[in-house]
Amino acid sequence: MPRYVYDFTEGGRDMAGVLGGKGANLAEMTRMGLPVPPGFTVTTEACRAFLASGTEPEGLQQEIAGRLAALERTAGRRLGQPDDPLLLSVRSGARFSMPGMMDTILDIGLTDESVLGLAKVSGQDRFAWDSYRRLLQMFGSTVMGVDGALFENALAALKTARNAPDDLHLDAADLAGLVETYQQLIRRETGEDFPQDPAEQLRRAVHAVFASWNGERARVYRRREHIPDDLGTAVNIQMMVFGNRGSDSGSGVAFTRDPATGRPGVYGDYLTNAQGEDVVAGIRNTVALDELERLDPESYRQLRGHMQTLEHHYRDLCDIEFTVERGRLWMLQTRVGKRTAEAAFAIAAELVEENLITPDEALARVSGEGLARLMFPRFDTTGLGAPLAHGIPASPGAAVGVAVFDSAEAVRRAAAGEKVVLVRQETNPDDLPGMVAAQAVLTSRGGKTSHAAVVARGMGKVCVCGAEEITVDTVARRFTADGVTVEEGTVISVDGSEGAVRLGSVPLADSEVMRYFETGEESAGLVGVVARTMQQADAVRKLGVRANADTPEDAARARRFGAEGIGLCRTEHMFLGERRKLVEAMILARTDAERDRALEGLLPLQRQDFVGILAAMDGLPVTIRLLDPPLHEFLPDRTELAVRVAATQAHGDAPDAHDGELLEAVNRMHEENPMLGLRGVRLGLVVPGLVAMQVRAVAEAVAERRRAGGDPKAEIMVPLVDTVEEIHIVRAEVERVLAEVSEATGITVDCPVGTMIELPRAALTAGRIAEEAAFFSFGTNDLTQTTWGFSRDDVEAAFFSAYLEQGIFKVSPFETIDREGVGRLVEIAVTEGRAARPDLKIGVCGEHGGDPDSVHFFHGVGLDYVSCSPFRVPIARLEAGRAALPDTEGSDSR
Ligand code: ADP
Ligand code: MG
Ligand code: MG
Repeated sequence: MPRYVYDFTEGGRDMAGVLGGKGANLAEMTRMGLPVPPGFTVTTEACRAFLASGTEPEGLQQEIAGRLAALERTAGRRLGQPDDPLLLSVRSGARFSMPGMMDTILDIGLTDESVLGLAKVSGQDRFAWDSYRRLLQMFGSTVMGVDGALFENALAALKTARNAPDDLHLDAADLAGLVETYQQLIRRETGEDFPQDPAEQLRRAVHAVFASWNGERARVYRRREHIPDDLGTAVNIQMMVFGNRGSDSGSGVAFTRDPATGRPGVYGDYLTNAQGEDVVAGIRNTVALDELERLDPESYRQLRGHMQTLEHHYRDLCDIEFTVERGRLWMLQTRVGKRTAEAAFAIAAELVEENLITPDEALARVSGEGLARLMFPRFDTTGLGAPLAHGIPASPGAAVGVAVFDSAEAVRRAAAGEKVVLVRQETNPDDLPGMVAAQAVLTSRGGKTSHAAVVARGMGKVCVCGAEEITVDTVARRFTADGVTVEEGTVISVDGSEGAVRLGSVPLADSEVMRYFETGEESAGLVGVVARTMQQADAVRKLGVRANADTPEDAARARRFGAEGIGLCRTEHMFLGERRKLVEAMILARTDAERDRALEGLLPLQRQDFVGILAAMDGLPVTIRLLDPPLHEFLPDRTELAVRVAATQAHGDAPDAHDGELLEAVNRMHEENPMLGLRGVRLGLVVPGLVAMQVRAVAEAVAERRRAGGDPKAEIMVPLVDTVEEIHIVRAEVERVLAEVSEATGITVDCPVGTMIELPRAALTAGRIAEEAAFFSFGTNDLTQTTWGFSRDDVEAAFFSAYLEQGIFKVSPFETIDREGVGRLVEIAVTEGRAARPDLKIGVCGEHGGDPDSVHFFHGVGLDYVSCSPFRVPIARLEAGRAALPDTEGSDSR
């Protein structure tokens, strides 16, 4: 029979899958000898069993009872014992941290009777009643399903009646009255009394925590963070310690370094006379952690010591929850903390410097996605006046959007395509959909560890919190700051790096990291850290990185960004603009001579394009793809043309002869499904002279560059090949033209001919195709379309969100390669292609080439290179380096 319960003394950090992250780390801290209140963890497996069957798995109740008895012996008190109750917290905690997304219930074990016992043994009536009202509120809402706002409203009404600015101004009698009110509320709303049996409280609290795995907030968060839905949560049952016992008690959260910038130093918030949930909820304004040094120097000293111990032990930034009960410090949680992209780079570099981690580990702890964030533009505030308001720079970046004042409005406007900034006094888990929809989050309350800050950082979303100069009026839907009133719908700019809010749309400027990639000029600080990380990635990676570039400018930029060649040079844009006329002439040609004339017109233009690109990439391979799209894409729109012709006729005028001819051609060439029609290699096989003209342009460009002393390395790539016969014919044509050009110029022009693998049939017959192809390049966009039977343009808008919603995809297969299906075709083609031709060079040129997760896959199947857009090149380099690392324990990127 499986085991469902582990004592904190039995677990450890490597057991997060079983005990959840919180449970595993509580056990780790217990083992390290830190002061953790005793307790035990119910496994995620028990949760999965409960959620699958709707009932507790057999044996769970007995295991919990056994552990509880042991805990009661240690504590010397029984759960809810009338004269001196042991109280418990029942805490959720999944494998991956989901802060605030699931439920936790504190003070389990209080009843009408034991509250009196607690008052008596503690000698503190107020504390006892405060704890009981907290239990009623949490249990009532999370376990019994009463709307939490009803409790909030009752508390607010009481504060008003007593003229109390905050909860501390309510005395024992007030709180006892509130308990009465809450109990009535529960009875009224549920038809049931709050359970007076502590064992029943515990059992129901555990069930509620299990069930909170499938709560709305948790599901939204998981989808957003790509956390699987079937993991379940563990439940931690722990002896309560009390931060609400007076001014010598309190609760706080702390980071061992600044999670926004990575700078060393202690960061955190502390709240006197409060339980932990108050700190993040923002019910009162917290003070900076340094303040604890003044209030309670001994607890502060101990806390600093524990923080250092934890950072050395985890060898990373740690995020901590603690409580001080009457001068005694308790550690309630730790985890490797979430951080901004900037902090991730800075901290990793710092820890290398401190000899705590190796450069490889540092590389494992940053990510391509983080690097992308650092490359985003920042605000250019030169010449602008002072900001409208300041706040805490909780999550960096620059965002512009219209102010909205609730989650629903944010979602509504964002769905309509508007960019929004969610403005709240503080956020809570119910605001999650709005935060997801918004460009930025702005709050008037709360510190760096408030809900808004933590969640925004996790999402990589811009956030300024605790902007106390602004007053948010959610009812009137506006905020005021500095005498200015900002109504809903007004454009504001939020700078999460500086912590500033400005009216209107502030212009953007390049980030310093982007400037570094553009110029190669290193400097101290963040740029230096990024530069060193890139060097490390380049040193360890096995995958080459090329760029998809169609112009000399893009090629040059790609090269500056570190591309080692061009993996895909599309030629279709060379047929646009002015040149469209020549393409039209080619299509409409009635005789070979007419067609040849049109092609001859295109030849020098294309040649010049290739000369420029080959010059920009001198010495590096440039893979040029033969024309791929259907020819009718170069003709005018069918409907437009038909309307024009009809209109002329309706006027009684003679129809324009050219228009008539075009319309006839467009009708003739119309395809029901162009994606699967006359395109790719098929064009070259049916349009005489097309391949020859393109190859001639390439070959002559190579000769010209060679004559100029350059080192051009052109490769010719045939798109959309289905079968070896196609490439066989095209290759013969290519070789004929290359020989002709060599003969004519006296320069031997030698271009390898390869093919794209972008159809399932090509992947499945890769061994045959490799007999004729010098290289393969996976066109994973088309390969994904043809493997799934999706037309991307049609399906993405039509049903992808429904598919993501229903969990059919975790992520769109156009974003991250579908390993199971498309990936399997890639593997087959690699294996069979290499078996037929051991020196076959293999790359990928679909958009997946710049996607971090896909890069890891391509590394794993042994490709030679990935190719992606120039701006993604640094990201691909970084991820290719990370993929090549031996299994290091990189920080949990979620
Ligand atoms: P979350 O995952 O949302 O942070 P937690 O399980 O950490 O939820 O608990 C919510 C709050 O209750 C935290 O501030 C935590 O420190 C506090 N808390 C949890 N267990 C105890 C306990 N045994 N004694 C005192 N406070 C506790
Ligand atoms: Mg917590
Ligand atoms: Mg394609």
